[in-house]
Amino acid sequence: KAGLEKTRKSFTDKIEQLVVGYATIDDEFLDDLEAVLLSADVGVTTTTKLMTEIRNGIKNKQINSPDDLKPFLKDKISTMLVTKQQGETVPHQPPHVILVVGVNGVGKTTTIGKLASYYHEAGKKVLVAAADTFRAAAIDQLEVWGQRTSTEVIKHAEGSDPAAVAFDAVQAAKARKADIVIIDTAGRLHTKSNLMEELKKINRVIAKEIAAAPHETLLVLDATTGQNAINQAKLFGDAVALTGVVLTKLDGTAKGGVVIAINNELDLPVKWVGVGEGVNDLRPFAADDFAAALFA
Ligand code: GDP
Repeated sequence: KAGLEKTRKSFTDKIEQLVVGYATIDDEFLDDLEAVLLSADVGVTTTTKLMTEIRNGIKNKQINSPDDLKPFLKDKISTMLVTKQQGETVPHQPPHVILVVGVNGVGKTTTIGKLASYYHEAGKKVLVAAADTFRAAAIDQLEVWGQRTSTEVIKHAEGSDPAAVAFDAVQAAKARKADIVIIDTAGRLHTKSNLMEELKKINRVIAKEIAAAPHETLLVLDATTGQNAINQAKLFGDAVALTGVVLTKLDGTAKGGVVIAINNELDLPVKWVGVGEGVNDLRPFAADDFAAALFA
């Protein structure tokens, strides 16, 4: 699967080396395996959980030799990911409102462009709201993506109220019978509390216009930041009701194991993965495919 090559190299190849390098499973083998999981950014909590499962697997004879390890791990990781994929969005009247949050630089604007393109290609009428009014560059960048994907961008002047932009976008979507509204938001973390209040206000304004909105709140995380991504998720999760994660830059990292950590530690499904800078480099995340690709 495109974008996972680096992770596969660091993860599967190392596991392969372990399997070949050891004739029997001993403490040293288990220590080395633990190090492989940690180096792929599976994270301490999730690694500990997997190691417990492996020790149990050895005890009850599901794992009898190093060779048994790959299928066992694949199965456990698959199960871990699939359980968190349930709870799809309930069908409702359009417009479907998607709020997109995340720290600056994670790939939020690019992701919104890719999402707009994805839905446009699927025959949907899409509107994008430039509610990161803090950065003029963010508004400009969205407009460039908008032109590229034939998507209308609702914007106000730099420095205006982000909630007002969101309000206008939802109004426009209703008036123009748009199917999907994607709302960009600011990602300046240095004024953390203000940002979180701003996100809450955007939420309140949208919910007043459309009862169940936002229908999705996607947190964009950069896979190359590894465990930092987990901390960002906790921070944003305290302010808004996240429904899923977009994990970007998976193509640029050997630390794709963070997908497993996000699913396991945050109780949040990874909905999309970014695997490049191009408009088509966004893929719906499929747990089975991911686990299969890791162990291909
Ligand atoms: P924002 O500040 O969160 O809006 O981030 P941008 O959308 O401006 O993206 C920051 C940089 O990351 C840009 O150079 C993007 O091209 C790049 N980027 C975004 N998503 C991906 C991805 O999935 N893969 C790669 N390789 N680069 C990405």
